[in-house]
Amino acid sequence: MRLLIVEDEKRLALSLAKGLTAEGFAVDVVHDGTEGLHRASEGSYDLIVLDIMLPGMNGYRVCAALRAAGDDVPILMLTAKDGEYDEAEGLDTGADDYLTKPFSYVVLVARVRALLRRRGRAASPVIRIGAMSVDTATRRVMLDDAEVALTAKEFAVLEQLALRAGEVVSKAEILEHVWDFAYDGDPNIVEVYISALRRKLGARTIGTLRGAGYRLVGRGA
Ligand code: CA
Repeated sequence: MRLLIVEDEKRLALSLAKGLTAEGFAVDVVHDGTEGLHRASEGSYDLIVLDIMLPGMNGYRVCAALRAAGDDVPILMLTAKDGEYDEAEGLDTGADDYLTKPFSYVVLVARVRALLRRRGRAASPVIRIGAMSVDTATRRVMLDDAEVALTAKEFAVLEQLALRAGEVVSKAEILEHVWDFAYDGDPNIVEVYISALRRKLGARTIGTLRGAGYRLVGRGA
């Protein structure tokens, strides 16, 4: 899952990015509204955390411009002001949720996950593939009723495959959703994580389609 943070308070933006990265998200950060809109229009983000008071272009306008362009990416707005007027305006311009500063980091993560789930194609946060279940809410994986311990990044890679179980997911798609734009290392990093997942979940759980990508299959399938 790839997130964009548009926040001009650099210390806050960096601490949010650090925290969300540790949760297994790929996070990009920009510090002004114009750049935020540009990046949001170009990138394929799963969610945008958008401050309201921003240099360049305020958050309301960024949000309204994205919606006007037909972009329905979930948007969580941050505001330093509190008051019904702001909330109404934020929701009017097409934001999905808002959070008033100062907020607790735990609440932010919960809101982010709730918005991602709401948008997810599965009504339930739990995706079942054969004997495996992937809980996108609690970030836990069970195999034959036993929990499999995964790192945050391993889980994020598995989640991309699980959301499209049975379909072929390309290495580029996995990279795009799990790593951030600053990642300029070897795209074969994906293979390293696929190998680790195969060790933990069973070699035949993840099929490789040479040149096309990977496919998650239920055991025995
Ligand atoms: Ca601000």
